[in-house]
Amino acid sequence: MKKQADTATRREFLAASGLALASGLIRIPPAARAATPIAQAGLPYPADALEPIISAKTIGFHYGKHHKAYVDNLNKLIEGSELAGADLGTIVRETAGKPDKVPVFNNAAQAWNHDFYWKSLVPGGGGIPTGKLAELANAAFGGFDALKKELQSAAVTQFGSGWAWLVLDGGKLKVVKTSNAENPMVSGAKPLLVIDVWEHAYYLDYQNRRADHVAAVIDGLLNWDFALRNL
Ligand code: MN
Repeated sequence: MKKQADTATRREFLAASGLALASGLIRIPPAARAATPIAQAGLPYPADALEPIISAKTIGFHYGKHHKAYVDNLNKLIEGSELAGADLGTIVRETAGKPDKVPVFNNAAQAWNHDFYWKSLVPGGGGIPTGKLAELANAAFGGFDALKKELQSAAVTQFGSGWAWLVLDGGKLKVVKTSNAENPMVSGAKPLLVIDVWEHAYYLDYQNRRADHVAAVIDGLLNWDFALRNL
């Protein structure tokens, strides 16, 4: 079920060449509107699998409370509306930048970002990217260490809540940071990996030491195979 939803999201993302966005129309088949609510994607590993870098307690609150609340709020906001029945990626793209849709966008994008974040981490992660990803890292940053430094810097310097992303943009790897719920896919980049730097992601384990948390995540949890698959 989750796999199908992911595939559909990716297909729709690729298909969104700009026409639907440019027109401002929301193109959702009427038959889809009675569909089931957005489901919170399952955690790809047990809650304690990322210890000691991220504790089961943090995952319990982060996945079980924060992430769940975004999904629940989104479902309440779209119930009976033209967006009911649309997949998450479509809702994010269709509501981005629309002043009357800010609450829907914020909750939909946070739901999307968290699904993507859990997949960006893996027990025993870190290490060195291979293949095409290694080539792109060399081309864009002059090497993997420089890429990691950029990611660390973006994650640490994001002022307030937000996200640090590795994206593919115009065929090149880039590191970008976004505030609050913002997602770089709405400006045409393709997310490859993300690090959550909202305080709820690390405060129970690291308190104010965001830099230590981010360094540990980059060295021990990032899922480069996931990034490679997203290319
Ligand atoms: Mn979060």
